[in-house]
Amino acid sequence: METRDMKLVVVGAAGRMGQTLIRIIHAMPGAVLHAAVEREGSPFIGKDAGEIAGLGKTGVIIGDQPLEAFLHADGVVDFTSPAASVTFAGLAAQARIVHVIGTTGCSVEDEEKFKAAGRHGRIIKSGNMSLGVNLLSVLVEQAAAALSGRDWDIEVLEMHHKHKVDAPSGTALLLGEAAARGRRIGLADHSVRVRDGHTGAREAGTIGFATLRGGSVIGEHSVLFAGEGETVTLSHSATDRSIFARGAITAALWGMDKKPGYYSMLDVLGLSKS
Ligand code: NAD
Repeated sequence: METRDMKLVVVGAAGRMGQTLIRIIHAMPGAVLHAAVEREGSPFIGKDAGEIAGLGKTGVIIGDQPLEAFLHADGVVDFTSPAASVTFAGLAAQARIVHVIGTTGCSVEDEEKFKAAGRHGRIIKSGNMSLGVNLLSVLVEQAAAALSGRDWDIEVLEMHHKHKVDAPSGTALLLGEAAARGRRIGLADHSVRVRDGHTGAREAGTIGFATLRGGSVIGEHSVLFAGEGETVTLSHSATDRSIFARGAITAALWGMDKKPGYYSMLDVLGLSKS
């Protein structure tokens, strides 16, 4: 059977990830840039998506009409904002196209909306699309399970560039979730997001988060397992945004022949237990 390239829409096309996605789609076999969308009023509307991304003219002009862009596409890759991603999830499900969501900082209500959209659409969402971080999450879950009940403390430390607007990062939360799964506890009831002033001693069984921001750091994450007299650190360093973009395009291609559903990067990479 003849195969054709998957036609992808990049929303948030002028953003840091949007530009990286446009370059990676250009370089990766199996996918082609079908349309590029930015928010209404963006100074990049009307500009060539390839030129914005440093590729030269591609003939794909950045627009502000997502529904029109989704109409004849096969998938949308979305690293924007929580409110925008919720809107795109509804539109992508309506258009029956694959929706890959990398946006972080989403609320519990947003997550409910993504899951609802996954009843008709194919959604693949992850706080981190890289192979390395998803592998790390598997190792964190294993370590947390092995150390469960042994009085070891778990802390998640992250650093990102100064423009990042949400904290802790989606990746830190993904790693915290993995640790909580290993310990068979819920993260929401056990996480300590902030410490300030006279906090008292550390509460046993909690998972702590510490956030650093500065410069142009793409993403540094460590999960520390601290016991009496010893510490084990599992960590990941991102030195290039292309790891997230390659993961996102791989996810879109994987989603092409899948049933409607709400999937994660662990499913795409075959690292999921279920
Ligand atoms: P950015 O601010 O550089 O880019 C976001 C872009 O989205 C901007 O150009 C903005 O104008 C656009 N946008 C906002 N609302 C829109 C709308 N309604 N329609 C169309 N475009 C819209 O940010 P960034 O560094 O590219 O990150 C974007 C998101 O991706 C963040 O939430 C970030 O945390 C996340 N991220 C996730 C991963 C991952 O692997 N999951 C990796 C890196 C970044």
